[in-house]
Amino acid sequence: MHKFRLFSSYSEAQSFAQVNAPSRIQRSSEGFCVYYDTASEQETTSNDTLELLKRNLASETDLRLKYEQEVNNLRAELSEVRGKIKEKASETRKALREEYIARQKELKERSHAELSRLRDEKERLAKEREKFSEMHEKVQEDFKLIKRALKERFGRFKVTDYAEEHEDSFFCSQCGGDGGAAGGCKRCDGTGWEKRVVLTPGRRVVFEDLP
Ligand SMILES: [Zn+2]
Repeated sequence: MHKFRLFSSYSEAQSFAQVNAPSRIQRSSEGFCVYYDTASEQETTSNDTLELLKRNLASETDLRLKYEQEVNNLRAELSEVRGKIKEKASETRKALREEYIARQKELKERSHAELSRLRDEKERLAKEREKFSEMHEKVQEDFKLIKRALKERFGRFKVTDYAEEHEDSFFCSQCGGDGGAAGGCKRCDGTGWEKRVVLTPGRRVVFEDLP
């Protein structure tokens, strides 16, 4: 029956092949493969083989240590990144909170100022109204006095509406004010001015007892 064993170096494969002859060595992707007959198999306890095993073990340990180191590095990096994210989030929250408080304060101050302005304006208007009201009362009192004096002097009277007629000049509505061709506009006799009677409304006092 045939078996094979893999070696990483050619010299190790060769020494195994010598002990287990007949055998043949073949290069493979994983190193050197020694095919040998089981009938001739012997335990290789040569120094070379022991050395090889030791080296394999050492490199395995190295690899494991390296791997562990890498895992530890990655863990540390991850933890650092997590810490940074946490810190950033906390900073952002703090900044937002501060901005919110500042805005609230600003709004409060602004509405206080606006309220105070409105209150002042209201006070000013109230004073103004009071002043006008006093003036109005005084005018009414004066008016009563004047009415009484007029009645005593001239008898009964009333205030009435009237409309006064009077003539006014306008741009002629026919020729537009230029007097027509060769001054021949009939409406304004070529003057460009048209006279019209207008009513001006007004109010006046009428003494009823006067002849
Ligand atoms: Zn005219």
